[in-house]
Amino acid sequence: MAQDFTPTESGLMQKVVALCKRRGFIFPGSEIYGGLGGTWDYGPTGSLLKKNLKDWWWEEMVTLRDDIVGVDAAIMMNPRVWEASGHLEAFADTLVECKLCHIRLRADKEEEKKEHEKEHAEKGEGKVEWTNPRRFSTLVAAQVGVIEEDKTNLYLRGEITAGVQINFRNVVDSTRVRVPFGVAQIGKAFRNEITPGNFLFRSREFEQFEVQYYIRPDETEGKKWFEYWKQNRRDWHLKLGFKKEHLRFRDHRDDERAHYAIAATDIEYLTPWGWEEMMGIHNRGDYDLRRHQEFSGKDLTYRDPETGETFLPWDIETSSGVDRPLMFLLMDAYTEDADRVVLKLHPRLAPYKVAVFPLVKNKPELVEKARTIFLALKKAGISTAWDERGNIGKRYLAQDEIGTPWCVTVDYQTLEDKTVTVRDRDTTLQERIKVDTLETHFR
Ligand code: ATP
Repeated sequence: MAQDFTPTESGLMQKVVALCKRRGFIFPGSEIYGGLGGTWDYGPTGSLLKKNLKDWWWEEMVTLRDDIVGVDAAIMMNPRVWEASGHLEAFADTLVECKLCHIRLRADKEEEKKEHEKEHAEKGEGKVEWTNPRRFSTLVAAQVGVIEEDKTNLYLRGEITAGVQINFRNVVDSTRVRVPFGVAQIGKAFRNEITPGNFLFRSREFEQFEVQYYIRPDETEGKKWFEYWKQNRRDWHLKLGFKKEHLRFRDHRDDERAHYAIAATDIEYLTPWGWEEMMGIHNRGDYDLRRHQEFSGKDLTYRDPETGETFLPWDIETSSGVDRPLMFLLMDAYTEDADRVVLKLHPRLAPYKVAVFPLVKNKPELVEKARTIFLALKKAGISTAWDERGNIGKRYLAQDEIGTPWCVTVDYQTLEDKTVTVRDRDTTLQERIKVDTLETHFR
């Protein structure tokens, strides 16, 4: 019997992390040098999975829509950007330090603090006293310039939003966009997270995909588009294959909303350690454009070509990490079935759509035929894997763990009637398919 896991089940996370290492999805960053906390490297399968996720997102947000354009802004920006955006003040965590072991935790994380107090108590080390809360910047500082005393201090971007906001004027002037319209971006962000951990959930270098959607500055419009993007993003996550019962919306309380937000809702995922933010939908009002206009001295207003009205648009933002949902997708896809582990990834996300095997590797006529099919599928743009090691059963098991939806085996019958066995990942059922219809079959 196939076993699906609820994410809260103990051990699931460890199983997913182990599978990621074993099958080339994700490795600890700088592993051979002892690692670097809060960084992860994507391997051959993981980088394909991540690319498929980003490509699908871009297709939905940009390619298939006529109201959203894309940008790819620099990671390093003029330091004034961060003053204007409010991040120099706001991108700081308030921390408390344990006087027993000097570990620092976020002052607002009551659960983590209690857990820590419990650990000391259980080890008989006494009662924890915390220092007064202090603020620590989470922006990652960098320097550019070749002459030592002439270097410019700057920050690697802590979120990708600012690169869109500072190009608002450029986008409006260089394209045909008209309010309401959006600007999409995918890219890396960096944060000096105090407590990186839980695999990809909280790292110091991660990727984000975001749309800033500019609308008329109006309460009713704001509510309408906020609702639209909430539903749109929920539907997208369901399309990716997330289990409905593992997702929920959570509105931010007044006291937790980010410095820029008029309204904010998270889509949360049920992680092994409870509900956590996967992405956020924010009504940022005209906060960013107003601040950048003020700090840069440049006019960032929009002129409605029909009415001639001039205004600073409001921004409804959908902001998501790439790695965080990717990790959750792996957890939702992880299934144990009798003697096999299966990653039931959506075929669009699966690193390889097809794997091709010769039945045995010491029969040149089978290998040659299999190789021809393998190369033809690749040439047709279908991501295809090759495996000739060990027995067929083992090869199936390996592909199941990678999430490959179909395996093609070239056997002696292929040489006679030009058909191959196609085996389905989820049902394990096999059927004979004509070689010359394979490409259409998989499409
Ligand atoms: P959290 O409360 O978990 O720290 P946040 O509210 O700081 O998250 P945002 O600033 O809203 O997060 O960032 C948008 C998205 O970027 C998050 O929903 C998440 O998917 C992703 N993200 C943020 N910080 C990290 C991180 N350190 N590692 C991986 N992904 C992250």
